[in-house]
Amino acid sequence: MNKPRVALLGLGIMGTGMARRLLGGGFPLTVWNRNPAKAAALVSEGAKAAATPREAATGAEFIFSMLADDRASRGVWLGQDGALAGTAPGAVLVECSTLTVEWITELTKAATARGVEFLDAPVTGSKAQAAAGELNFLVGGSAATLEKARPVLTAMSRSITHLGPAGSGAMIKLINNFVCGVQVAAIGEAIAMIERSGLERARALEVLLNGAPGSPLVKLMAGRMTTPDFTPNFLLRLLAKDLSYAIQEAGQRSLELTTAKAALSQFERAIAAGHGDKDMSAVIEPLRQGGTR
Ligand code: NAP
Repeated sequence: MNKPRVALLGLGIMGTGMARRLLGGGFPLTVWNRNPAKAAALVSEGAKAAATPREAATGAEFIFSMLADDRASRGVWLGQDGALAGTAPGAVLVECSTLTVEWITELTKAATARGVEFLDAPVTGSKAQAAAGELNFLVGGSAATLEKARPVLTAMSRSITHLGPAGSGAMIKLINNFVCGVQVAAIGEAIAMIERSGLERARALEVLLNGAPGSPLVKLMAGRMTTPDFTPNFLLRLLAKDLSYAIQEAGQRSLELTTAKAALSQFERAIAAGHGDKDMSAVIEPLRQGGTR
């Protein structure tokens, strides 16, 4: 049976890996990226490159996007030559970026008004998992739409979890990432404290990593912070974005995320010091260099 035509908008760290998995799964794929140079390698591997999001969406049965933030998503779906204008009735739109529930709600309404189906399907897993087809999709939307999209999602994933109606995936993803952000900031502060304390770093870290604080993320970050290796898997400025979106969503529900606010202040400090385009583990750099505020 012929596989459905798929479009993927956004070829960053995550989108590029996802595109390769779709090609590997035999899906006819059209890609679009703001900086068109990022499409070249995928074209040589069998993808078509579109000049605009609208062109990419035209004729596709499934249209995925993997973009930086709300602003990028709004522009790509609803802006000039935006993807929504290219969709046909019955197409399924799958927004995989980490975004606010507020924007997902607006985008769902715009999709429904055009007669297309919508899923929010942000992911956990990073660069390596995107490349290996081992992402975990956190899905919001109708169960019937998810069943339609499942074969395409499966080509990119290790697991698919249906959380509830549209916006549910975005909500759990922001909760997940604010907890991640707090852990990354905390292990950065802990390592900075160890380095100033006179303790032997490796032995002191063993206590943390083999004990209760040693979550998979804390272990990964401790390795990157001590090597140090700030080659981006997850851009620091994007984790700051996720923390601020989580704080905003909680605020709309009369909840103050004080731990997320404290973590965000460390990430903002690192961005101000020029580390925004490095891996999130670079949050430790200002703590090492500048002392506490
Ligand atoms: P990335 O490498 O920075 O890629 C961002 C993508 O968004 C690029 O394609 C970029 O285009 C595009 N973009 C940014 N601003 C735009 C705009 N105004 N208009 C159109 N396109 C725009 O980031 P990533 O790591 O792939 O992350 C993508 C999404 O996945 C984010 O929402 C992130 O929070 C989420 N996420 C990331 C990870 C991870 O570990 N990296 C894990 C889970 C979820 P250009 O190439 O032209 O700049």
